[in-house]
Amino acid sequence: MENLNLSSIYGSNVFNDALMRERLPKVVYKALKKTIDEGLPLDAGVAEVVASAMKDWAIEKGATHFTHWFQPLTGITAEKHDSFISPTSDGKVILEFSGKELIKGEPDASSFPSGGLRATFEARGYTAWDCTSPAFVKDSTLYIPTAFCSYTGEALDKKTPLLRSMEALDKQAIRILKLLGNTTATRVTTTVGPEQEYFLIDKELYDLRKDLIYTGRTLFGGKPPKGQELEDHYFGTLKERISSFMKELDEECWKLGIAAKTKHNEVAPAQHELAPIFSTTNIATDHNQLTMDIMKKVALRHGLVCLLHEKPFAGVNGSGKHNNWSMSTNDGQNLLEPGRTPHENAQFLLFLTAVVKAVDEYADLLRASAATPGNDHRLGANEAPPAIISIFLGEQLSDILTQIENGGATSSKKGGELKIGVNTLPVLPKDSTDRNRTSPFAFTGNKFEFRMVGSSASIGAPNFVLNTIVADVLCNIAERLEKAKDVDAEVQKIVYEIVKNNKRVIFNGNNYSDEWIVEAEKRGLPNIRNTVDAVGAYIAEKNQKIMIKHGVLSKVELDSRYEINLENYVKTINIEALTMLEMAKRQILPASINFAGDLANSINAIKAAGVGADISAEADLLKEVSQVIASFKKNIAILEDKLAKAAAISDDNYKQACAYRDEIFTHMSVLRADGDKLESLVGEDQWPLPTYGDMLFNV
Ligand code: ADP
Ligand code: MG
Repeated sequence: MENLNLSSIYGSNVFNDALMRERLPKVVYKALKKTIDEGLPLDAGVAEVVASAMKDWAIEKGATHFTHWFQPLTGITAEKHDSFISPTSDGKVILEFSGKELIKGEPDASSFPSGGLRATFEARGYTAWDCTSPAFVKDSTLYIPTAFCSYTGEALDKKTPLLRSMEALDKQAIRILKLLGNTTATRVTTTVGPEQEYFLIDKELYDLRKDLIYTGRTLFGGKPPKGQELEDHYFGTLKERISSFMKELDEECWKLGIAAKTKHNEVAPAQHELAPIFSTTNIATDHNQLTMDIMKKVALRHGLVCLLHEKPFAGVNGSGKHNNWSMSTNDGQNLLEPGRTPHENAQFLLFLTAVVKAVDEYADLLRASAATPGNDHRLGANEAPPAIISIFLGEQLSDILTQIENGGATSSKKGGELKIGVNTLPVLPKDSTDRNRTSPFAFTGNKFEFRMVGSSASIGAPNFVLNTIVADVLCNIAERLEKAKDVDAEVQKIVYEIVKNNKRVIFNGNNYSDEWIVEAEKRGLPNIRNTVDAVGAYIAEKNQKIMIKHGVLSKVELDSRYEINLENYVKTINIEALTMLEMAKRQILPASINFAGDLANSINAIKAAGVGADISAEADLLKEVSQVIASFKKNIAILEDKLAKAAAISDDNYKQACAYRDEIFTHMSVLRADGDKLESLVGEDQWPLPTYGDMLFNV
């Protein structure tokens, strides 16, 4: 029963390949497939037929509207719904959806971030159908995944550079495969499986916390007596309320063709994870956006709120998104699969070391791709991974690379066969790596796991960066191989050189240790501690050069992303500071003063009773509370003052972002310390906010 049910709901709301084959004329289907599989341009006539079939199917599914669904630089998705109706002269309507409407939309772009790209008088923006990601029906609407650009053609979204980067990597990887003698692969796609972490808390408690409502994280809150120290939540049994949430979440995902696979409790109390089966980067990115949206909506149906913020609770593990990434060919190879024969190992080692070189040389760009104010609480703060990018390869692969470096590469060439000192080694078992949970970029058997990405972020940026930097290294390798007289020997040489030059980025030890920070500095690895410092990578010349070279982002597009990131930083911290002030002044301060007043009244009452009772304890407590209240009040005033100054900086985004980081953000911790102290003093029935204990342990 279960099985039958599952296979009938899976993908039932998706206009997928099977449906297209069934509902489209053969020639149209073939033409569309060519566009999807081979990246060929789309014919307008084909779009017309597809639109009509899509509309009929969507209406059968109960849809009344369609929307061009896109991913502006806010990091979330956007949609504007249009109904299918078209009035007729006899006062009725017919349902229409043209090829033109499928291919192109014209949302007003003026209210989306553009980082100065779009003058307000050029408000027009365009959305263009991305036929490589299937359309679907959700909430009575046909959703058409699209890319979003300005009137002048600049990318204003997360999808456009991602698609461009996939093409760039495809082109370079195929060049290399051809040179290595592969005659069957015609396409290389990058694949991604994003593991999504999240918290669930009770909606009634959530509603009492302005900080969660406005900022997604708690700005006040002392540590509860119990945290995650017993590690009893990780993989623990699922509570009924949680498991019924997860069941519904799975089903909603499956209907949309999202292959939700794994679910479990995470390390922190109230923290959980969902991982889908990987798919192409483009689809995985769309699906991850959908998954986050579904999580929030399904949670509400269960009286819960899903928190996707990177650090909802201080002192408790935050949430990330492990971006499992690899490259695969359309002749069925995973290019990061170690393989069994030496020849395949050579190919594997070439692609493996290409990634190593890319990550080493563009660590700053990769770091920037995971930089958000929310993620600043995780990276390089008191939890993993650190802000230093390094690669975990595991013992076995590291050993192979060491052997190559020690001369294996020069001595292993024999009878036209390619060897990189690998022939002498045992065949690699599938899981050649042990686990290292502390590494930001870990090889895990047949893929790399980029673990820096924040839980609320789109995986668009990390992946377009990853694709592009690897594409660039592959491009340089291809150039060398094309010129080489002896390709095999050149491969050997390249791998050797990369090991020699880029091995500094490989680190198999504990990334959380203090020694690593010192060691990394010795190795010259960048340690970029916050978003304001990180996003400069988008305007660094070396990085812009490769983005432009591979047609992923132009200079103006990169400059605008830099500005948008800084603006976003300022706005986020500003909202947090304002929220903090509101809570401090209107909730915490009045409650604390009331408590102090009650205490004073009690002291007077006891004195008036005239029994000569010892009131020193009450008096001490009153004194302590009053002192903290005084300090709290003073720090409110300081934060207000700093905020006014920072907000007034208008000439320079970078300068303003620095002020928010160095003045506002730092002073917020000072104010918080007083607030949390008051929480520990004021009586429970008088405290106006649900505590950490309430929120983390009550579901
Ligand atoms: P773990 O991180 O615990 O090893 P899994 O082995 O289940 O977990 O893999 C985590 C994620 O990696 C899953 O989403 C899985 O689909 C994805 N994954 C597996 N193989 C690949 C691949 N070749 N490319 C991209 N992602 C992959
Ligand atoms: Mg993992």
